[in-house]
Amino acid sequence: MDHFLYRDGLLHAEDVAIQDIAEQVGTPFYVYSTATLIRHFKLFDEALDGLDHLVCFAMKAASNQAILKTLGNLGAGMDVVSGGEYLRARAAGVPRERIVFSGVGKTRSEMHQALQGGVRQFNIESEPELHLLNEVALSLGRTAPITIRVNPDVDAKTHAKIATGKSENKFGIPISRARDVYAQAAQLKGLDIVGIDVHIGSQLTELEPFVAAYRKLAELTKTLRSDGHNIRRLDLGGGLGIPYTRSNEAPPLPTDYGAMVKRELGHLGCEIEIEPGRLIAGNAGLLVSSVIYVKSGEDREFLILDAAMNDLVRPAMYDAHHDIVPVIEPAAGTEQAVYDIVGPVCESGDTFAKGRHLVAQQQGDLVAFRSAGAYGAVMSSEYNTRPLIPEVLVNGDQFAVIRARPSYDDIINRDSLPDWL
Ligand SMILES: *Cc1c(COP(=O)(O)O)cnc(C)c1O
Repeated sequence: MDHFLYRDGLLHAEDVAIQDIAEQVGTPFYVYSTATLIRHFKLFDEALDGLDHLVCFAMKAASNQAILKTLGNLGAGMDVVSGGEYLRARAAGVPRERIVFSGVGKTRSEMHQALQGGVRQFNIESEPELHLLNEVALSLGRTAPITIRVNPDVDAKTHAKIATGKSENKFGIPISRARDVYAQAAQLKGLDIVGIDVHIGSQLTELEPFVAAYRKLAELTKTLRSDGHNIRRLDLGGGLGIPYTRSNEAPPLPTDYGAMVKRELGHLGCEIEIEPGRLIAGNAGLLVSSVIYVKSGEDREFLILDAAMNDLVRPAMYDAHHDIVPVIEPAAGTEQAVYDIVGPVCESGDTFAKGRHLVAQQQGDLVAFRSAGAYGAVMSSEYNTRPLIPEVLVNGDQFAVIRARPSYDDIINRDSLPDWL
């Protein structure tokens, strides 16, 4: 459920008409709903009621300071995957003991930074990383709390680019080697083993792969405990999918997921961490764009928008579907046209949808891409020297720009000329 509905014939974000934002901010822009963000966080938090738990927002999905602060104020932790994300989380006021540091390639300086600043735990993904973190921790006279990410070799049944839990993926250590690697870790004086971590992929639309992974995790918990390790925390990763089309997909709800977690892992007495990103932010954001041209091709009509693949790369990168809806509600029974919906960038990949049914559009009409709140703004670029687009946050009847559109001067002045020019 989200808070983007038609009201009096106009698409609203909570109590604000999208048109009003477009007039003030200009298109294209991203807009997020505070109420939806809060609702999704609370769904997860409440689904784990009764377990000692922490919901860490996977902030790579949406990392604007205002979004982090909104969630942080509710008690959310953050799952960070870079030194930059660590600093963003801290800048948004998230306490160090709620920050989990994930990622397959943490550098020495990132480890140094997080150890100095304080962190809940590092999720370690390889043996060399274990040794490097130990070295950095010892050099600072600290002990680094760690989990080791195990790769359970289960098929997440999702898009290949976002599956992470098969043995062919670069993530984690093979579960078959876990005892050996935990034994090595236990020898390292700079490390304190606190638990186990797993994350099998993103946009999962069934619970079954999670169940398979968590059963292996429960088994491993017992084995590692019998080896003498103090396993007291299980990080279950993120990955629960969202409906990108309103018609035919119905991924499991956080409530179902939480019940499953309790059933599979509740008896172990561990503190549970989860790292949802997409399910918290995805349906909490729209990308709003306007029609530049309607162009008639040989055998099709093109709707050329002012948003492009540099603003929202998911269709080009993952063949992702986004529902695209008019900002003015069409009267019931209005005839629909069929469009290839594209952006202005000089690549054929800059296509948002092919053969899409939408009420007939004209120059200047506004459309909204639904489910654009996760992996949208954060993956955007300035390809074709198209300025990063603004982000707007709505809260009830208020809205605020939470990232302004840079000027062309800002962009050009980021470059510098060498002496010889
Ligand atoms: C990307 C990622 C997540 C979040 O995945 P979602 O599908 O957005 O929930 C959680 N944990 C780790 C380690 C990740 O890499």
